[in-house]
Amino acid sequence: MQMLLGGERRGSRANARIEIRNPSDGDVIDEVPNASDEDVDDALRTAVAAFPRWAATPTHERSEILARGARRLLDEQEQLATLLARENGKTLHHARGEIASAARLFEKYAHEALRLYGVNVPGDFEAGYERDLIITRRYPYGVMVAITPFNFPVSLFSTKVAPALATGNVVIAKPSEETPLSTLRICELLHESGVPAEALQVLTGGGRRIGQRLMASPLVDLVSFTGSVETGQQVATQRARSITPTHLELGGNDPMIVCADADIDLVIEHAWFGRTLENGQCCAASKRFIVERAVSDDFEQALVERLARTTCGDPFDERVDLGPLINPGAARRTEEQVASTLAEGAELKVGSGKAHAAFFEPTMLVGVTAQMAIARDLEVFAPVFPVLRVDSVDEAVAIANASTMALHASVFSRDVGKAIAVAHRIDGGLVAINGTGLYKPDAIPFGGWKTSGSGREGLLGMASQYTQEKTIAVRNVLG
Ligand code: NAD
Repeated sequence: MQMLLGGERRGSRANARIEIRNPSDGDVIDEVPNASDEDVDDALRTAVAAFPRWAATPTHERSEILARGARRLLDEQEQLATLLARENGKTLHHARGEIASAARLFEKYAHEALRLYGVNVPGDFEAGYERDLIITRRYPYGVMVAITPFNFPVSLFSTKVAPALATGNVVIAKPSEETPLSTLRICELLHESGVPAEALQVLTGGGRRIGQRLMASPLVDLVSFTGSVETGQQVATQRARSITPTHLELGGNDPMIVCADADIDLVIEHAWFGRTLENGQCCAASKRFIVERAVSDDFEQALVERLARTTCGDPFDERVDLGPLINPGAARRTEEQVASTLAEGAELKVGSGKAHAAFFEPTMLVGVTAQMAIARDLEVFAPVFPVLRVDSVDEAVAIANASTMALHASVFSRDVGKAIAVAHRIDGGLVAINGTGLYKPDAIPFGGWKTSGSGREGLLGMASQYTQEKTIAVRNVLG
């Protein structure tokens, strides 16, 4: 596939290309250009030139274009899902769901853009302003760079790009070097639906180099980044000089607290779903299972049984629960993380602890203690279930909050009043009660505390994330 720069489909000037491989079997499925520095600079200049016209396009027209784009995505759902499952390794079933969610997001943001009202501030609140007409309006920022990770390339692209375009910003998308193909195809469909090619461009290739060049540019007005804490810190450091908004959605090591009075069947259902979705590579998955000792034998036994019924293999086989990780390197990294946790004293209860190409089978670690890295800041991006036993809910909350990350969390108890009190004490952008913390309806303010990020995505945050407010005061015109 080609990059989409200002409407041209082209390779980079240096004509360097990178291969995109299917993580299941390592086969090359396509090649994309490795954008040169000149390509990055061209994209930025094109975006700056395109902004005034797109911003001046009436909101109802932009909204209609995006709604049309949403329908095109649904028309091509099966082909897009196949492409996504091939480049990412997620099951076809989940890939279909992700395309549907992207279409839904484009449609919802298209509608939401029609409701970005300003306010009329009564001047007579304060002496000296009684005769003034004061109104506020919202304006797009300009050029937004949307940097996305490999795990949800389509839905995270849509979460950022739909509201940005709907509010009149122009976008340069920088998908993960692992999974650019579905993003490229979706952008083609959006162009065919009426989004000007100059208002939505895609740069493919080496993420670090391209990302750093984009982040260094004074032509960028707004950044929306999703990825690891480490990369987010580099982005924030580079953007600090610009002052312009940089929204960061970063990693998590989310706790699941299981109280002694929890419904264990419910806990297992949610623990399994949250930790195996996207083959164990979700930011907001429960990654630390903190269980009150009174029910920890029951929890561990039930989880062993559930994992014994879990199938790992070809993501196109409808009977398979989990596909591979994103590449063999990710599986090797998981092997090292499990080995280091075992060296700290944990025990392997389920799984071999070994990588097989890009595959890492569901793994359960018991005897995990609060001092181990996995119980604090070691984010394992694979279907690994570390279980900690605790003597009290207070101890569970202390362990939960000991991480420097705080994305989502969950609490299970039949006593909802108690669970709310626990939720109140846990650090994080969201705490789910009696459900997995992997919880993301489109409207909620989605994002993390501490090093898990800044800013909130979702329909509720659209106005504040993608537009800037201006007050216009007309002096002495009333009465
Ligand atoms: P990553 O940080 O390696 O890469 C993310 C993106 O940043 C990619 O597009 C990459 O090419 C680009 N990039 C790399 N170096 C860069 C730089 N110096 N400047 C700018 N961009 C750069 O993350 P990943 O491995 O693709 O994704 C996994 C991580 O993302 C996990 O930590 C996960 O928890 C996190 N994540 C967070 C959320 C959230 O909403 N909070 C959602 C999904 C994933």
